[in-house]
Amino acid sequence: KTWSYEIVKPEPTNHRDNTQKQTLGKEKAALVMLARNKELGDALHSIRAVEDRFNRNYHYPWVFMNDEPFTEEFMELTSGLASGPVEYAQIPKEHWSVPDWLDVPKAQKSMEDMVAKGIIYGGSVSYRHMCRFNSAFFFRQEVLAKYDWYWRVEPSVDFYCDIDYDPFAFMRENKKTYGFVMSLYEYEATIPTLWKATADFIKDHPDYLASNNSLDFLIDGQAPSAEGDKSIPEKGYNLCHFWSNFEIADLNFWRSKTYLDYVDHLDSLGGFFYERWGDAPVHSLAVSLFLPKDKVHHFNDISYRHAPYTRCPQDEESYANGRCVCPIPKTQNFDTDGYSCLPKWWAVAGKEDRRYN
Ligand code: GDP
Ligand code: MN
Repeated sequence: KTWSYEIVKPEPTNHRDNTQKQTLGKEKAALVMLARNKELGDALHSIRAVEDRFNRNYHYPWVFMNDEPFTEEFMELTSGLASGPVEYAQIPKEHWSVPDWLDVPKAQKSMEDMVAKGIIYGGSVSYRHMCRFNSAFFFRQEVLAKYDWYWRVEPSVDFYCDIDYDPFAFMRENKKTYGFVMSLYEYEATIPTLWKATADFIKDHPDYLASNNSLDFLIDGQAPSAEGDKSIPEKGYNLCHFWSNFEIADLNFWRSKTYLDYVDHLDSLGGFFYERWGDAPVHSLAVSLFLPKDKVHHFNDISYRHAPYTRCPQDEESYANGRCVCPIPKTQNFDTDGYSCLPKWWAVAGKEDRRYN
């Protein structure tokens, strides 16, 4: 049998002409990346992956944020890959600097101690700015004001399955607020007083604690929250958090008075500098305590890698129909790794195997 092909040459597209690019996805949503100019190659890698697996069918806009001006090269090459409109925003200085009330010698001393203990990023000021920015300021950027939803994408991540539905629409239609893929334990040495700070906050604002919250995800052996519970234990945080390098979430949650009061309280304590509070535990505590459990969604159908961990969906259909190709054997799937908190999430919130499309 011989095959004959009719070669249809596609019209050349001008990838760099973003004025021609239009959003097809219907949600007020953007793909958001915080990056440094030197991460250009890693940024392109992630954009390529998200475009190939999802956005080529939706053309959602990309928003790039940086504490420094992006280089022409960064903007030209990233906008070349984006299939939707692109915007580049420089973060205002007041969202990326040491507050004037900070006890700088105290912060320096604690950074030295953390370096001596070998704590990752223990001596990095820029990493602290980044964590504080992602906790307290990213959702206040003017460039995001027109959006309700964001998908956080970091440089150098991978996706191994097609996402053949609109996760933003899924979130809205199913009344979800926060979506994650991986969950794991935080380094205790980076957040020694974060839980106490949170418990104190809830003491001052008992009404912010949601009924049917996820306290039982954060404390082992905790009973599910009951209607009318107004406090949380002062101790016992198991360090579980949602890995915030991937997030699909509702910006309006971070813009709410509840969250603003919480993150202002945290910031006033200086823990982003005196300790090394990460945006992942900060987001996760807020999501788990201020939202009912059913507002939180585990995207079980999304495969993801952020070094050093990889997770893939475990249903057979996703492989039989070619939607996914997982680069790791089941035994290395992070979901059930000893360092993963996902089994705890399943235990308190249930496990959904269903795909959404
Ligand atoms: P890790 O995932 O915790 O190891 O930290 P990353 O180095 O991946 O940083 C998390 C996110 O913040 C990524 O999107 C980085 O590109 C970004 N990031 C980290 N530090 C800086 C910085 O100093 N400036 C800018 N503009 N982005 C940063
Ligand atoms: Mn990262």
